[in-house]
Amino acid sequence: LFDYAPAPESPAAAGEIATSYGHFIGGEFVDSSGSEALKTVNPATEQVLAEFAQGTEEDVERAVKAARKAFGDWSALPGSERAKYLYRIARIIQERSRELAVLESIDNGKPIKETRDFDLPMVAAWFFYYAGWADKLDYAGFGPNPRPVGVAAQVIPWNFPLMMLAWKIAPALATGNTVVLKPAETTPLTALRFAEICRQAGLPKGVVNIITGDGRTGAALTAHPDVNKVAFTGSTNVGRSIARQLAGSRKKLSLELGGKAANIVFDDAPIDQAVEGIVNGIFFNQGHVCCAGSRLLVQESIQDELLEALKRRMATLRLGDPLDKNTDIGAINSAAQLARITELTAAGEAEGAERWAPACELPSAGYWFKPTIFTGVSQAHRIAQEEIFGPVLSVLTFRTPDEAVAKANNTPFGLSAGIWTEKGSRILWMADKLKAGVVWANTFNKFDPTSPFGGYKESGYGREGGRHGLEPYLNVEARDV
Ligand code: NAD
Repeated sequence: LFDYAPAPESPAAAGEIATSYGHFIGGEFVDSSGSEALKTVNPATEQVLAEFAQGTEEDVERAVKAARKAFGDWSALPGSERAKYLYRIARIIQERSRELAVLESIDNGKPIKETRDFDLPMVAAWFFYYAGWADKLDYAGFGPNPRPVGVAAQVIPWNFPLMMLAWKIAPALATGNTVVLKPAETTPLTALRFAEICRQAGLPKGVVNIITGDGRTGAALTAHPDVNKVAFTGSTNVGRSIARQLAGSRKKLSLELGGKAANIVFDDAPIDQAVEGIVNGIFFNQGHVCCAGSRLLVQESIQDELLEALKRRMATLRLGDPLDKNTDIGAINSAAQLARITELTAAGEAEGAERWAPACELPSAGYWFKPTIFTGVSQAHRIAQEEIFGPVLSVLTFRTPDEAVAKANNTPFGLSAGIWTEKGSRILWMADKLKAGVVWANTFNKFDPTSPFGGYKESGYGREGGRHGLEPYLNVEARDV
């Protein structure tokens, strides 16, 4: 089962990044047909890490053709054979996880503690989990003859580059589809390293194709007429434009978009535990998390006590070098994202909310933002409605459970929510009323490949994870005629 090629003698350690990259098409690393190149930088130092290709329409055409060519044989393989490749990929990811974690931290800016202990284990878990489904599709209640959809175009964001790749590629391959994936333009390096892993695993050529570039490449890919399924994770605006672009095309579409989650703390919650959940909810991955607990809804009677404890805890967070094992808060992923956070937090002050951040020094180079909270926030404020996608928490208060539900649901989004209370009956009542695809109780930011993840309202549609995560990649013939 695990007879894959051994890792290269000196596995290209994260320090050894090529100076320039082309695409991965049909099992080969190839040059772009165009001459435009983009640069990816280490956001903690602003140093250029590598150049990579801006994919052209011709590149997209080649990649989709390669995926189409591979589709026949790949989809005809027995599920048990496809599973072998997915297990191999999962094992290689485990073996190379140190290298991949370092590379992810360098390209993204997130702390090594997170890439090592969260991202990489999740990535491997996703491939192991969907490997297990590949030979069981006939018995999984999808109908008599579940069939792959065909060629999947997958476009992902920069906040969890490898994890988003795993969420997209693992279920697509398990169900017999072939893929063309485009990573985000600020974090292409781990997707290109993953291409090496596909070769190491002996994956048939063309089953996975990686093509780099910015939104123009993404739009060319999602628009390609020979694509059967589009899976997109990113901002609500781009999601909306893709939905418009695909209208009438008969392509299947799933969208994982933004969020503005409420983390709701009742007066009976253990304060210290809730504080840990709040900190994890908004400062994990610098708050670059679609389901971040970016609004704290605290019951009025415990507001002072909770905020005092929260500030004390925030003062202990260590911000700095993502490769330092003690770092809690790494770099903001890009200058553009830093500008967006700066703009929205200035709007928070202008609208009258009170800003607080612990004293901490920011490194002189790179993109950084202190963990920040706003109190005195009203529901109409931009910082209570718009996704900041940074380490910034907006604090609102409530008196009754009904009011908590009304405020929690009062945004255009509906991705996740958290509840902190010792009353089990209240958890069940709240979970039923909250318009969110995921509700956590007395915890936050817990993910598992067995659990479907996705949104309500402007947070998108379709689910990733679990059995539900297979559905977007299957046509069920009996129902589909
Ligand atoms: P973005 O929408 O700007 O970019 C996402 C990806 O789409 C990138 O690869 C980009 O190149 C590509 N793209 C841009 N324009 C495109 C177009 N017109 N057609 C096709 N592709 C295009 O988002 P971002 O700034 O990279 O990521 C942040 C957003 O992603 C946040 O809003 C966040 O909430 C969301 N997100 C959601 C989830 C989820 O699971 N719901 C997970 C992670 C991130």
